[in-house]
Amino acid sequence: MSTDRTFTATHTRNEIAARRVSALETVSAALARADALEPKLHAFTQLFHEHATAQARAIDARLARGEAVGPLAGVPVALKDNLCLSHGQTTCASKMLENYRSPFDATAALKLSNAGAIIIGKTNLDEFAMGSSTEHSFFGPTSNPWDLSRVPGGSSGGSAAAVAARVTPIALGSDTGGSIRQPAGFCNIVGVKPTYGRVSRYGLVAFASSLDQIGPFATTVADAALTLDVICGHDPCDSTSSDLPATTFFTEVETLVEDATIGVSREAFSSANHPAVTKALHDAINVYTKLGVRIIEIDLPMTDYGIAAYYIVATAEAASNLARFDGVRYGHRAALAPNETLHDLYCRSRAEGFGPEVQRRIMLGTHVLSSGYFDAYYNTALKVRRKIKGDYDAAFRQGCHAVLMPSSPSPAFKRGGHSGDPLAMYLEDVYTVAVNLAGLPAVTFPGGFTEDPEATLPVGVQLVGQPFEESWMLRLARMFERETQFGTRAPKV
Ligand code: GLN
Repeated sequence: MSTDRTFTATHTRNEIAARRVSALETVSAALARADALEPKLHAFTQLFHEHATAQARAIDARLARGEAVGPLAGVPVALKDNLCLSHGQTTCASKMLENYRSPFDATAALKLSNAGAIIIGKTNLDEFAMGSSTEHSFFGPTSNPWDLSRVPGGSSGGSAAAVAARVTPIALGSDTGGSIRQPAGFCNIVGVKPTYGRVSRYGLVAFASSLDQIGPFATTVADAALTLDVICGHDPCDSTSSDLPATTFFTEVETLVEDATIGVSREAFSSANHPAVTKALHDAINVYTKLGVRIIEIDLPMTDYGIAAYYIVATAEAASNLARFDGVRYGHRAALAPNETLHDLYCRSRAEGFGPEVQRRIMLGTHVLSSGYFDAYYNTALKVRRKIKGDYDAAFRQGCHAVLMPSSPSPAFKRGGHSGDPLAMYLEDVYTVAVNLAGLPAVTFPGGFTEDPEATLPVGVQLVGQPFEESWMLRLARMFERETQFGTRAPKV
C-alpha cells in the first residue's frame, strides 16, 4: 500500500520549477504509466504522446531561459473527453462524436494550459456524461483501480481512475448530478463540484446546462484547491460564469477553521446505506467533534424527491441540448438508400449514433416537455427544485458552514451490477443530485474503507457548502484529511 504524498501537483511543480526534475521526465513517466495501465483500467479515450512531450520540452526550455512559468508548469493532467480540445478528438465517449474535432479549447482546458499544465490525454466517461459507472461508453468500460472487477463510478470514471492510479496527480471532470463526487468517493480521492457559475462551462459539451459544472480531481485537498484557483473565474464566453474576484483557495486551505458548524441531517443515515457508508459518517462526526467543530442537526426533508426532480430537469435539458446531433449539424451521419428522405437521415443517424442510455434520456426528456405532460412533470420538478434549495437555505440560516453526508449510498459496485436496471443506477445519485439542483458547491474526500475481507474498498464523504463559499468546505475537508490520512492509501495496480 503506497503512502506516498509526493505524487501531487504541488510537489511536482515545485520540483520542476527548482529544476530537480524536468517536465519532460515527468510527462514521459505519466505517459508510460498510462500506457502500462491502459489494458487494465481503460481510463483514457486518447493519449497525446507527441503533443504532450513537445509541450513538456517547451516548459523545460522556458525554465532554462529563466522565464516565469505558471503555477502548474510541467504537471501532467487528464481531461474528461466531454471537454473540447482543439487537439485530438472530443468524443463524449459516443459513436455520435467518434471523429469530432473541436475547433477550439474549453476555457477550463485553456486555463490549465496557460498555467503550464500538460494535458496528456482525454479520459473515458459514460456517453455524454449520462451514468454513474463509466460502463455506458462507446469505447468500453473503465475499471476501478481498487478492484478491477468493479466500476470507478461515473460519469467521470476515467479521470477518477487516472488520478487514483497515480497516472496524473490532477484531472478535470464534469458534475451534473454527481459525476465528480461519486467517482472520487469510489476511488479514494478528492473531487470538487464548484458553485454553479464558478467555472466557465464554455467548451463543455452540454448535458443539462442549468446543472453542469466543471471541477477537479486530486489526491489532496490542497491540489484540488490549486486546480480550482486556476480554472475559476469569469469568462465572457459563458454568461452564467460569475464575475467574483480571482479565488485564493490554495493559500486559504491550510488555515484552520475556528468556530465552525457542520449540519447533519437524519436523511443522510438512510437504511439503504451500505453499513460502511453509515459508519464513515459516524466516524467523520467524531473526527470533527474532536477537532472542535460544532455538529448540529438539520432537516433536509426533500432529499427523497431529489432523484425524481433531477431525472426530469436533467433529461428535459439533455433532450434539447442533444437535438444538434443529427448527422447534419453535428455528429455521425448514417448512409442513406436512394429513396430515403431527410427525415430518415435524422432518424437513422441518431439511432445509430446514440447508445441506449442516451436514447432513454432523450425519450424521457422529450416526454416530460411534451404538451399535456409539461405541467405534471417539468413544472412540478422545478417547484421541487426550489424547495430543495429552500431546505439548504434553511440549514445555512441555522448557522452551518457546511452540510455533511455520504457521497453515495454504497461503495463501488461490480461491473454489470446495475445493468438492466436503470432505476437502481439512478438511485446511486441520491446524495449528489440535490447539490446540482440547488447550485451549491460540494467536495468529496476519502472517509474510510470497508471491512470486506474480499476487497478493501474506499468510502467517500461529502461536505456541501454555501454558494461561493468553497473556502469553508475545503478548509474543513483539509482538517479532516490532516487528521485521518485515508487519502494517503493508494491502490495496487
Ligand atoms: N449519474 C448522474 C446521471 O446519470 C449524474 C451524471 C453527471 O453528473 N454527469 O445523470
